[in-house]
Amino acid sequence: MYSFIATWPFALQAAQAAGTVLAAGGRALDAVIAGIHPVESDPAVESVGKGGFLNENGELALDAAVMDGDTLKTGAVCAVRGFEHPVDIARAVMEHTRHNILVGAGAEEFARRMGIPEAGMEALITPAAREAWQQVKTRGHDTIGAIALDENGSLAVATSTSGANGRISGRVGDSPIIGSGFYAETGVGAAAATGLGEDIMRTCCSFRCVDLMRAGLSAQAAAETVVRTAHEAIVRHGGRPDCIALVCMDAAGNTGAAANHKGFAFARAAQGLAPQVIEVTPVLDKDGENTFFDGVAGYER
Ligand code: ASP
Repeated sequence: MYSFIATWPFALQAAQAAGTVLAAGGRALDAVIAGIHPVESDPAVESVGKGGFLNENGELALDAAVMDGDTLKTGAVCAVRGFEHPVDIARAVMEHTRHNILVGAGAEEFARRMGIPEAGMEALITPAAREAWQQVKTRGHDTIGAIALDENGSLAVATSTSGANGRISGRVGDSPIIGSGFYAETGVGAAAATGLGEDIMRTCCSFRCVDLMRAGLSAQAAAETVVRTAHEAIVRHGGRPDCIALVCMDAAGNTGAAANHKGFAFARAAQGLAPQVIEVTPVLDKDGENTFFDGVAGYER
């Protein structure tokens, strides 16, 4: 039985594309990449790929990652400019280097060497993104995190994001960081996160979620436990958690999703199930507001 889950309603097109790959007997790894491609190309998705949020310098610098649960191999890129499909560069890092993460100009140079098509940064910046950047108060950040299980029982995960609007140039979120924004281990489970990367990184959400499934929790219980305990840990240590949300899948394709805020939803596809968007009831009663910017100009504090 194949199974697919990805963060946010904009991932419905990902569920359709990935579902087609999986229904044809394709690999989980190919399915997560195929799922992310249309979202990266969609200029209406304001936080991923083309049309994504700009950093404080007005640049579109993208993060992406992939992990093959069969091998635990991973590839990620941070702050790459001029490429519509950073997830393809992440895959090339995984498959053609001995490294896990390449950043900035080095990642761009590597992508050119790999023959990955380069669009040029300006071609990927939409008028809406430029406008959001000019309105420094626009607060937005979302990631596509996609997980697939194929007919062979292999799990894979991939992520892609622009990160938040107006971030400091060079800022890296959780999405390309193994164990924080994503994790997959075939035979155990996989997880992907979305929300404020700074909070997700300091609570290592995705690896913890997979480890809880390893310990016997259901996918749903693991997702809820991670979101709740991450939120509570930040509060206990004097912080104010921003948005934290997770999707996950166990080795059998059962899915879980949890958020500490209202408004989170995910897209799902599986054998015998038409691609659909499902809303998530929050496990905590945090309002939907981002707390990260409160009382500060930009991201400095
Ligand atoms: N986690 C992403 C980041 O911090 C953004 C998001 O998923 O909302 O870059």
